[in-house]
Amino acid sequence: MTNRQELIVKNVDANKQMILDAERWLWAHPQTGYTEWEAHNYLVEKFEALGYELNLAGNIPGFWTDVETGKPGPKLAIFGELDALDIANHPESVNGMTHCCGHHGQVAALLGIAAALKQPGALDGLSGSIRLIAVPAEEMIQLAFREDLRKQGIVSYMGGKVEFMHRGVLDGCEIALMVHGGNSGDNIDFVCGKGMNGCMAKTIKFKGKSSHAGGAPHLGVNAQYAAMLGLQACNDLRETFQEKDTVRFHPIMMGVNCAVNIIPDEMKIESYVRGSSIEAMKRENKKINRALTGAALAVGAGVELCDRPGYSPEVHDPDFMRLVEQCCKDLVGEERVGFNYSNWSTGSSDFGDITCVMPGVQFFCGGASGTAHGIDYFITDPNRLCVNSAKAQLFVVDALLENDGAKAKELIANYKPEYPSIKAYLEAINEMILDKDAVVYDEQGNAKVDFQNI
Ligand SMILES: [Zn+2]
Ligand SMILES: [Zn+2]
Repeated sequence: MTNRQELIVKNVDANKQMILDAERWLWAHPQTGYTEWEAHNYLVEKFEALGYELNLAGNIPGFWTDVETGKPGPKLAIFGELDALDIANHPESVNGMTHCCGHHGQVAALLGIAAALKQPGALDGLSGSIRLIAVPAEEMIQLAFREDLRKQGIVSYMGGKVEFMHRGVLDGCEIALMVHGGNSGDNIDFVCGKGMNGCMAKTIKFKGKSSHAGGAPHLGVNAQYAAMLGLQACNDLRETFQEKDTVRFHPIMMGVNCAVNIIPDEMKIESYVRGSSIEAMKRENKKINRALTGAALAVGAGVELCDRPGYSPEVHDPDFMRLVEQCCKDLVGEERVGFNYSNWSTGSSDFGDITCVMPGVQFFCGGASGTAHGIDYFITDPNRLCVNSAKAQLFVVDALLENDGAKAKELIANYKPEYPSIKAYLEAINEMILDKDAVVYDEQGNAKVDFQNI
C-alpha cells in the first residue's frame, strides 16, 4: 500500500462505527423504489452533520453533493442505491420489504466515503470533483405504481438513475463508479464482469368479458385463458432467441379482480424483455408483442400493451476495470480479487444507463450470505460489505484524480460511448415507449391488429 492508500484506510476506519451503525439502521428500514423516505431522511441528517450541503431530488427520495478538490479536473460520479425489495416472507422483512439485494450497504458505504473525504489530507494531490449520489429505485418492480407516478408527472422514467439523468443530476459528470454488495463467497472480496443485459419493462393487460362461469360462459370472454395462451406463444418463441443476444423474458401474472364463478374479464401481466443490446431487446420484444396480440385475437379478447424503457445494457470499460482491479488488489491482496473480462451477466442494472454515455464500472463486494433476492439473504460481514467497499472506492478516486486527474482524463478520452450525450440517449430510449390497444374489433367481429410503435 502507498502512503496515500494507508491514509485512506485510516480515514475510513476513523468512521467505521458510523458506517456499521448506518448499515444496521438501513437494513431495519427497507422501502421500495421511489418511496425510500426513511433511508433518505436518515442519510440527509448524517450527510448534513458531516458538513455537506445537499441537492435534494425533491418530490422523490434521493440527493447529491459535490466534493470539490479545489483544482480543475474531471468530475467523477459515485452512486449508492436506496431501495429494497418486496419480499414479505423474508424472516426479517419490515412491512413486507427487505434489503435482500443489499442496497442499504451501498449507501452506508457512500456515507463512509463522504465522512472519509472530510478527514484532514483526504483531498491532497487530487484534481477535479466527486459527485456523491444517493439514488432511488434501482429495482424495476411495482410497474403499475411507477406508471402512476409517471402519469402524475412525478417521474418520467421507471429507474432512478435514468430519472436522475433526465433531471440533469449527471450533467457535467464524465466517469462513474459504483459498488454493489453480494455473496462472493468466503475467499473473494471483490468481483467484476464485463457487463450485463439491459431490459425493457412491459405491462400487458388482457381484456375479456365477465359472465356467469357456470350458467353462461358463452356470454363471456376469458381474459385469463387469453393470457395463458399468450405466454404459451411467447414460450414457443424462445428457440428463436439467439444465444448472442442473451434474451430473457420472464412474465408474471398479476392476478384478477374476480370470483371463481365469474369468467375473468381482465388479466394483467408484468414482464421484462432483457437482452445484450438495445437492438436485440427491440427486435425480440416486437415478436413477443405479436404473440400476445395473436393470443388475444384467438379467443376474441383484447390486449393492451404498455412498453417502457427499463435499463440499458451495462458495458464496463476494460481499461477502467483494470484500474479498479488493481485498487482492489492493493486493498485486500491479489488472491481475494476475481475480475473476469469476458463474463456477461443476464441480470440488469440501471448503471447500464450511465455506461451508455460515460465510462463506468460497477464492481461487487462480498459480505452477504444466501441468495440475492432470496429469503435466505443476510448480511454476515458488514465490514466487507460497507467498510472495505468505501476503502476500495476511495482507492479508485485517488487513482483517477491524482496527477491532475491524468488517468481519468485518459479513460474519458478513449471511451466510445454508445450515445454522444445524455440527450441523445434519452431520445433513443424514448423510442421504446408503446401504448397500444393491440386488437380492435369492428361490428362484424373482424379485427384490426396493431402492436408496433411505428
Ligand atoms: Zn436486485
Ligand atoms: Zn441490486
